[in-house]
Amino acid sequence: MSSYAEKVLKQVKRDNPGQPEFHQAVAEVLGSLKLVVDSDKRYEKAGLLERLVEPERVLMFRIPWVDDKGRVRINKGYRVQFNSAIGPYKGGLRFHPSVNLSVMKFLGFEQIFKNSLTGLAIGGAKGGSNFDPKGKSDGEVMRFCQSFMTEMFRHIGVDTDIPAGDIGVGSREIGYLMGQYKRIRNEYVGVLTGKGLSYGGSLVRKEATGYGLVYLSEEALNARSDTLAGKTVTVSGSGNVAIYTCEKAAQLGAKVVTVSDSDGWVYDPAGINLDVLKQVKEEERGRLTAYAERVKSAEYHARGNGSVWDVTCDVAFPCATQNELDEVAAAKLVKDGVILVAEGANMPTTAKGTDIFLENSVIFLPGKAANAGGVATSVLEMSQTDTRLFWSFEKVERKLQTIVKHIFTSIDDAANRYGVRGNYVVGSNIAGFEKVADAMMAEGIV
Ligand code: NDP
Repeated sequence: MSSYAEKVLKQVKRDNPGQPEFHQAVAEVLGSLKLVVDSDKRYEKAGLLERLVEPERVLMFRIPWVDDKGRVRINKGYRVQFNSAIGPYKGGLRFHPSVNLSVMKFLGFEQIFKNSLTGLAIGGAKGGSNFDPKGKSDGEVMRFCQSFMTEMFRHIGVDTDIPAGDIGVGSREIGYLMGQYKRIRNEYVGVLTGKGLSYGGSLVRKEATGYGLVYLSEEALNARSDTLAGKTVTVSGSGNVAIYTCEKAAQLGAKVVTVSDSDGWVYDPAGINLDVLKQVKEEERGRLTAYAERVKSAEYHARGNGSVWDVTCDVAFPCATQNELDEVAAAKLVKDGVILVAEGANMPTTAKGTDIFLENSVIFLPGKAANAGGVATSVLEMSQTDTRLFWSFEKVERKLQTIVKHIFTSIDDAANRYGVRGNYVVGSNIAGFEKVADAMMAEGIV
């Protein structure tokens, strides 16, 4: 008997050629959903998987802007509104030269399940551009963001689609995007999250993804009567997620010994110095060479000379980008005795790398559960903007912790119900799917 999930995966590969990241994300999810959909014919009859893998809407547009030398520049813009069964579309914007339709669709697809796992009423989307903010002046970034929003404003709205940040889109970019939206629409509404504190932002939003990642890891360790305290931790990336992962891990008593960027990586056996890291990355928008110049205990390795995964650790947090941890790195980490790997980035582990962790009983927390604290806190930001209230740091952090506990219980419970105890890949995919599938069945063939 042929499997419904396998049949749909074949169709996805056939009908979406040249989209390897999207295929990879769908293959991982459908590999888990087999356990649910193959034995219940209602799903196939309703064409549920076929609808789930097809975005409700894909927007692609031109972004013309003028650089500081007066030259006309053109970038590609995207918004993939993937699934609104349980709420308005929500998901980040990524500005990076590697952005293309495949990357946008993989991220939008993942976002459906991530958003559902938070227990909040938000659908899945993603967007961005192949624009590279690196090396651009503030004026260039502003003109680009204004041009991006001049097209995107007509497709988004507080009850339709609420974008946020991602790689290359931080508080500066969100500020420029928000300014242009407000100017065009002549209304102040919380149509973006990740806003600055002076114009509707939330405390803890900046920290939320990294903090949530560490909280979920602590939950998984606690479930095995273990804790992060005293552990040696490696982190990749040195952006928003990486920095606040380092901060919370250190607060819980772990020692973080690595960070990286696209030019190289740092090993600091004394423990990453957060003040210097924040100064270099958040204030100066500099490179990690500047960290190594200022911190005597740090070793700098240029790109191509090994990677952070060569460093022996108990816990690894990949927080840079997709497919940055392959099977060779995974095997090395296992050989060196890693006990937990949690994905701060989206799909940073390749499919083969993931299999190696699961086969070797490493606690593996996939991105859609592990980095969901960011989008969850975006919803807390939306509540504050809507009510014009401003909650304390402690209040938002408490709510984030409650949401993370709910995520852990849901993925652990789903793994147990389907007979794969401790397999949080399957647990996350199924737990995220259940609510979306219920809603899609209830809403009819739309
Ligand atoms: P940032 O832009 O703040 O930081 C990204 C970091 O990763 C930088 O250190 C960057 O180095 C590095 N990086 C990016 N692309 C590459 C690459 N191709 N090769 C090597 N290094 C790279 O992004 P975020 O921290 O916000 O996002 C990191 C990951 O977390 C992404 O996968 C994102 O989707 C995911 N995520 C983010 C959330 C958020 O709230 N921000 C929420 C959920 C997931 P360099 O500066 O040199 O480019």
